[in-house]
Amino acid sequence: MTRILRDHSMNSVCLDFEKRDILAPSDYRRAQRGKPARNKRAQWCPETIRNILTSPTVRGHMSHDGETVHGDDGMPVRVGPALVNDSEWARLQSVMEKKTRTRTEGAAPLLDVAWCDCGAKYHLWQVTQKLKSGPKRYRYYRCERSNKKQCDAAAIKADYLEALVSAYVCWPTILGELEVERKVLIPGEDHTAELAQVRDAVQRLTNEKDAADDWDDEDERAYLSRMAKLRERRRRLAALPQRADEWRMVGTGETYAQLWERSDWPERRRLLIDGVFTVVAYRPKSGQGGASSQGETQILMAPGPERLQGREIPRLPPTLGA
Ligand SMILES: [Zn+2]
Repeated sequence: MTRILRDHSMNSVCLDFEKRDILAPSDYRRAQRGKPARNKRAQWCPETIRNILTSPTVRGHMSHDGETVHGDDGMPVRVGPALVNDSEWARLQSVMEKKTRTRTEGAAPLLDVAWCDCGAKYHLWQVTQKLKSGPKRYRYYRCERSNKKQCDAAAIKADYLEALVSAYVCWPTILGELEVERKVLIPGEDHTAELAQVRDAVQRLTNEKDAADDWDDEDERAYLSRMAKLRERRRRLAALPQRADEWRMVGTGETYAQLWERSDWPERRRLLIDGVFTVVAYRPKSGQGGASSQGETQILMAPGPERLQGREIPRLPPTLGA
């Protein structure tokens, strides 16, 4: 957990757990139930670590299907000690929000972002041509079904499609002028654990008095003073507000155009995957072999977050290269 907070990658944590021979949850549960270990150990994968670190159990809360279970009083039901405090929990959740389930290193800028209108993904397709002046590399996005001849959409020049997406995002009335918002976890307040400790202390003190057979005035004075302090603490804790966790959208003071401008493609890709836009592009194949002109590429960007709905998204690019 500490390492995730320090931004180590999930993969590196998995490898380390395997090196240190730490059992993955499924094998651990087998061992707990006294079943013999399997021949092949279950492997740690980033998804497992994500599930653990985003589970309410980490905070000592009871969970069911990954959701916190709330008691009659509306507060989380406690089943064990919290492994993190509220501020660590909030930081952990925002780090996990950022960490991606999808490939990041070396991924094509529009992988998992651009889709063919047949419903399949666009993959980056690179070809090197030997020219007199030396080898020249061309980048295209191609429908993943096209090499199986199941889709006849033509490949699109990568620079063109990437520029098109940039133009859409930065165009003021589409996204450009909108302020970027981030999801932030506002941790709730929960004093049940502390309150339980104080109640235990009151009980222990009472038991001590009941069990003593040589209780004198001095014991009584000490008892009364300690009891008064504990009762005061109990009263204060019980009066504190109890709130459940809450995710809020908070403005970042930066527009989409500004954010896009200062980001590199992996960051931009992340932004798009996080739901700003889905790009659906289709470039019809023209007659006898040979691709149709770039200009015929149709693109439809589906806005993600609700607040973008109602904004007019033109079907054709506002400008290119602007
Ligand atoms: Zn296709």
